[in-house]
Amino acid sequence: MDIPSATAPRAEPGEPHLQWPFFDASHRALALRVSEWASAQTIDHADTDAACREWVQRLGHAGLLQYCVPKMWGGALEQIDSRSVCILREHLAMQDGLADFSLAMQGIGSGPLTLAGSDALRHEWLPKVANGQAIAAFALTEPDAGSDAAAISSSATRVHNGWEISGTKTWISNGGIADFYCVFARSDAASRGAKGVSAFFVPANTPGLTVVERLNVMAPHPLATLRFDRCTVPETFMLGEEGDGFKLAMRTLDIFRMSVAAAATGFARRALRETLSQANSRAMFGSSLGAQPLAQAMIGDMATELDSAALLTYRAAWFRDTQEGRVTTVAAMAKLAATELAQRIIDRAVQLHGGKGVRTGETVERLYREIRALRIYEGASEVQRLLVGRETLRAQF
Ligand SMILES: Cc1cc2nc3c(=O)[nH]c(=O)nc-3n(C[C@H](O)[C@H](O)[C@H](O)COP(=O)(O)OP(=O)(O)OC[C@H]3O[C@@H](n4cnc5c(N)ncnc54)[C@H](O)[C@@H]3O)c2cc1C
Repeated sequence: MDIPSATAPRAEPGEPHLQWPFFDASHRALALRVSEWASAQTIDHADTDAACREWVQRLGHAGLLQYCVPKMWGGALEQIDSRSVCILREHLAMQDGLADFSLAMQGIGSGPLTLAGSDALRHEWLPKVANGQAIAAFALTEPDAGSDAAAISSSATRVHNGWEISGTKTWISNGGIADFYCVFARSDAASRGAKGVSAFFVPANTPGLTVVERLNVMAPHPLATLRFDRCTVPETFMLGEEGDGFKLAMRTLDIFRMSVAAAATGFARRALRETLSQANSRAMFGSSLGAQPLAQAMIGDMATELDSAALLTYRAAWFRDTQEGRVTTVAAMAKLAATELAQRIIDRAVQLHGGKGVRTGETVERLYREIRALRIYEGASEVQRLLVGRETLRAQF
């Protein structure tokens, strides 16, 4: 059983990083709102699926999922505001990884539908995503196409009443509990790489769609391998233009990639706060842990790295919200730096907790498990490094 601590710290109105120029008053108000709300929630995680469904319902009821879709389809703001999504993810992650996951997947899972679905589909489904009545999933990865996502081989074949989709998708978050999947498949059988891929909206009850296997991971959340066996969807369930599916997947990830960095920042911020409490309360050598110079140095590194992660995260979100131009590089920098730095911060937090740090059920032990997958999904650190490196060479600055 994994119940988040009721003593989780809340954002204070004057929380220093919220005074950074990336934010306006509405962002600070949202931080306070989500922080107060999240610290009042406790959900039993014994059944991961049930816990996830419960989080989606509660987040929907609280109006927080509205930040995952535009106002026109039941959302809070005219457009998805990356700073708001990042603030939500950071503060939910501080409280509970599954709460953060539940909100994030509503956004990523419905992203292709928001960006390119027909008006009829958007009107039917996006308000349900925003109020927690429908659970969304994003199905790109395949057994032989992970980091090399353009190597997908699932097929979409035109038939008289629409498209027939076949193939296997794996590592699909919300797999098994989602109400719909945004699925990427090759609509041009002769194509290779990013070209010839299209995106489709596939309701979970489509005949031929089955869960092959549920995947258990170190920080549990619903995850599955899915089989699409000649699943037929109408022509109008294609998202965007034929052949534009890969671009749509990348556009979706561009919107949400820096929010992975925000979640990492939230895990790391919680780890630092737990460490400060430990440093002040743990008696040692006639004084406290916090009085030891080496512990002070470690905490100094943690605080510096946390601000570095947060600065890059909110720089990327601010850039996407307010500036013209491609966000890919700044989002990749944020994801790379924040997830790697958060891993180090949390590792130091475990170290400074001593034996307690590795004890099952301790907050820092949970954070140590929660952070790990973030360096792998939505583009592993190596992929982000390559991306930033290539763009930097191209820019020649
Ligand atoms: C918890 C979790 C949730 C996920 N949720 C979803 C989801 O909802 N939808 C979805 O479509 N997918 C999802 N994924 C899949 C995820 O995006 C892939 O796991 C990821 O892209 C890596 O692919 P892979 O696991 O096949 O690893 P591989 O592609 O086999 O890569 C293995 C490792 O190789 C290294 N590597 C990669 N590229 C290079 C390179 N060019 N040079 C050197 N080293 C390199 C990296 O360290 C990488 O971790 C999820 C994965 C996890 C773990």
